[in-house]
Amino acid sequence: MLLSNSFIPILKNNPSEAKIKSHQLMLRVGMIKQASAGIYSWLPLGFKVMKKIEDIVRQEQNKIGAQEILMPTIQSSEIWKESGRYDDYGEEMLRITDRQNREMLYGPTNEEQVTEIFRSSIKSYKSLPQLMYHIQWKFRDEIRPRFGIMRGREFYMKDAYSFDVSDEEASLESMRKKYEQFYAVTDEKFNKEEFEKIVSKENQLITKGIEVGHIFYFGDKYSKPMGASVDLPGGKKDFVKMGSYGIGVSRLVGAIIEAKYDDKNEIMKWPLSVAPYDIALIPMINKNDTSALDKANNINIELIKNNIDAIIDDTDENFSSKIKKMNLIGAPYQIIEIITKQKNSI
Ligand code: ATP
Ligand code: MG
Repeated sequence: MLLSNSFIPILKNNPSEAKIKSHQLMLRVGMIKQASAGIYSWLPLGFKVMKKIEDIVRQEQNKIGAQEILMPTIQSSEIWKESGRYDDYGEEMLRITDRQNREMLYGPTNEEQVTEIFRSSIKSYKSLPQLMYHIQWKFRDEIRPRFGIMRGREFYMKDAYSFDVSDEEASLESMRKKYEQFYAVTDEKFNKEEFEKIVSKENQLITKGIEVGHIFYFGDKYSKPMGASVDLPGGKKDFVKMGSYGIGVSRLVGAIIEAKYDDKNEIMKWPLSVAPYDIALIPMINKNDTSALDKANNINIELIKNNIDAIIDDTDENFSSKIKKMNLIGAPYQIIEIITKQKNSI
């Protein structure tokens, strides 16, 4: 990809409205654009990163046998009245009325919807346990949306839901163990000793004070009022036992920046697995000498063949601002091509 063709609206300075470094960087490099309070458009650079995070989350969910579904963003108030949360949820819920005067809402979470799906088809303990997830936009009318996408009103979340026959067989413990392999939780909630003992070194990610995931055990909190029961071996019935497992996919973009951005040197150190580009090619371009750019284009042909996603700075800006810009975009590797008086050297 050529930088001159890319929609990466970089700002010269940190925007003054942003208080934390992830918000500053995301606005400065044009990863996101605010649409209204707590609601953002994702521009190419930000969207690439979020999609890569989403893919990792998806792969890990699939690996543990969770089944991907996609529930709608707009839900009917009916199921929320059944669970008793329609009134309880309060002002955070965005309520909508359709043209038939039906009460709808933009889903802040999906326990009710998934319980409704479950109860309509699963009737026997023989079909348990079940583990389903989706990755979908949520809307919560947060009282104080702030820090950009870290606490947005619209945000992207993976939520998984487990269904078990009894408390003892609940999936929570096994999910918890699987989560622990990969994720740290917030400062106040995580046990440092356990974290160091259980999570392998390369998977340890401490994002100071940022909650990126959350797991809950509900038991029959939703299944009981919504009548989601299964037949047990002896002929009795019982309400299915549920848990939920959330990961803030869009928040993770910010959390990774908080953990990896070197604000002193203004370098974004994306992990390769989520970087917007694998490599940046930065050729020096003079008015009458584009040989370094030609070389960069040739290198890129080889990179493309090898599935390596590169960005080429083909602009004729001064060299130090080219480097600065690429440091902010943050491809983990850079190839810098300098033209010397005698010949090109890389
Ligand atoms: P918080 O305490 O931060 O409000 P929560 O308990 O409301 O979080 P959950 O309902 O457990 O959050 O949602 C699961 C995950 O979704 C959170 O761990 C977080 O990563 C993400 N998340 C929640 N609210 C937001 C938000 N307003 N903006 C961005 N991500 C969010
Ligand atoms: Mg909340």
